[in-house]
Amino acid sequence: MAYHWPADTVFRELTLEVDDRTCWQCEQPRTVCCHRQRRFFTCDGPVQLLCKLCHCSNPACPDHQTTVSPEAETALVMPYWVLAWDVFGWLGHRRFARHWSVPQIRDELRDRFAIPVSVDAVERYVGRYQRMLAARQHDPVEVARAYRRAKGLILTIDGLQPEKGHETLYVVREIGQKRVWFAEALLSSSAAEVQRLLARARAWAERLGLPVRCWISDKQDAFVTGLAAEFPGVPHRYCSNHFVRDLAKPVLEADSHAKVQMRKKVRDLRAIERDVLAERAAAADAADGPATDAPPAVAAADVVLEYCAAVRGILNDNQGGPLHPPGERMAEALTEVRQSLQRNLGAKKGGPRRPA
Ligand SMILES: [Zn+2]
Repeated sequence: MAYHWPADTVFRELTLEVDDRTCWQCEQPRTVCCHRQRRFFTCDGPVQLLCKLCHCSNPACPDHQTTVSPEAETALVMPYWVLAWDVFGWLGHRRFARHWSVPQIRDELRDRFAIPVSVDAVERYVGRYQRMLAARQHDPVEVARAYRRAKGLILTIDGLQPEKGHETLYVVREIGQKRVWFAEALLSSSAAEVQRLLARARAWAERLGLPVRCWISDKQDAFVTGLAAEFPGVPHRYCSNHFVRDLAKPVLEADSHAKVQMRKKVRDLRAIERDVLAERAAAADAADGPATDAPPAVAAADVVLEYCAAVRGILNDNQGGPLHPPGERMAEALTEVRQSLQRNLGAKKGGPRRPA
């Protein structure tokens, strides 16, 4: 969609001409045949560009009907774009190197460069930048440059499902240079499909002329068979991240079971609290009248109630992941409570009653 320029926009005017004025076909001179105007934003403000288009002056030449644009035009801005390369580069850098959000980029374009564009437009340019970046990442010359000092390759493959029901995106990465080599969405995770990706990885490694030291994956069947076929003799290690994640499940299950057992043992807090509250009320009545110091039985009852509150908090705590599971945290906390009770009893500070 064409950009709607406000009527009061002030443009910097620029004119470009074709440099190469000799026809490539017949070597007759090229002459200016028409003009084309276009407008776009640069970091230094809006530009109105006048392009002088040429064609071959020889009516008999096949290029007589073809117009040629000034060579410098696409160095400033791509066809149909409203943002020049400088703005485009700025935008891509903010998005992918600084991880700015699209609305943030839109706001900064307006505040800093006075470039009012919509979120949709920013997203479109971010998409273009991403495609260019991906193309550059795949450029064999660029890849060879990144690996010129490398001695070997450590490759990983993993399938990611962006959302449930979507096809799985298979990503091949090289750990040494921390580089995504390629990613492809496969409709089926069949061994044949996966092996096609592995063959592509082998072609990359061969082109770089570097040995593959090791493969790392979650060892799903298609990877195991595919790697054995495409990379015979190359070690295939289990990814430690997947290993810990797979181990976490049985650990958390065992932990959850231990928690249930502890909760069974430490119970009836409510009954203890009820008894203590009743005893405290009776003791306060017996003390008769307003007292400045609580009687010993009342103070002891408060201690018991505070222990009960602490223990209830511990039993309801569900924090902690697989590396510090909730049951283990519970056991540690309950042990501290028991030790604290023992210390109190040892110092004879405890009341006549204690929590279970
Ligand atoms: Zn010609």
